[in-house]
Amino acid sequence: MSESQKISLATAWLDGCSGCHMSFLDLDQRLIELAEKVNVVYSPIVDTKELPAEVDVGILEGAVSTEEDLSKARLFRERCKFLISLGDCAVSGNVPSMRNTFNLDEVFDRAFVENVQAKPGRPTESLPTLLKTVVPIHHAVHVDLFVQGCPPSADTIWYVLTELMAGRTPDPTTVTRFGA
Ligand code: SF4
Repeated sequence: MSESQKISLATAWLDGCSGCHMSFLDLDQRLIELAEKVNVVYSPIVDTKELPAEVDVGILEGAVSTEEDLSKARLFRERCKFLISLGDCAVSGNVPSMRNTFNLDEVFDRAFVENVQAKPGRPTESLPTLLKTVVPIHHAVHVDLFVQGCPPSADTIWYVLTELMAGRTPDPTTVTRFGA
């Protein structure tokens, strides 16, 4: 199959632990089979730094916690024909949304002052601007498919991708669940 005939795939992680991407890598030898049909055009696991203008399938891990996450989610929605919300953080907010019960001052103090022994204090630069509330991806942009799991297993990701490659709409609820 030529490069132009392959399905283009982009992935990114927002506020997540990267565990969902690790699950993707757990496809192991199936990655070789995948590479015959799918071209990974943008992802933390490839070198490309620019999201192409048109992508067939986009996968987002993690919740939307910062202005940067929000911009990335919007860019993926704009450029990806089919957008997948991968993992419980993306689908429900999960762990990152636990900060929603506190105000931002409490969150910053907990992270950078109370729990720090060496030089406690809030950094004044290089911190992404936090949104007041963490939201799942579909609260920020339209999502075409939800894949639950923390993380979704490699088998689940394989099922989703192979169904899409076969031109079918997968039903992830048949193979995974929240917390799986
Ligand atoms: Fe990590 Fe689980 Fe969130 Fe995936 S769903 S980013 S594995 S905490």
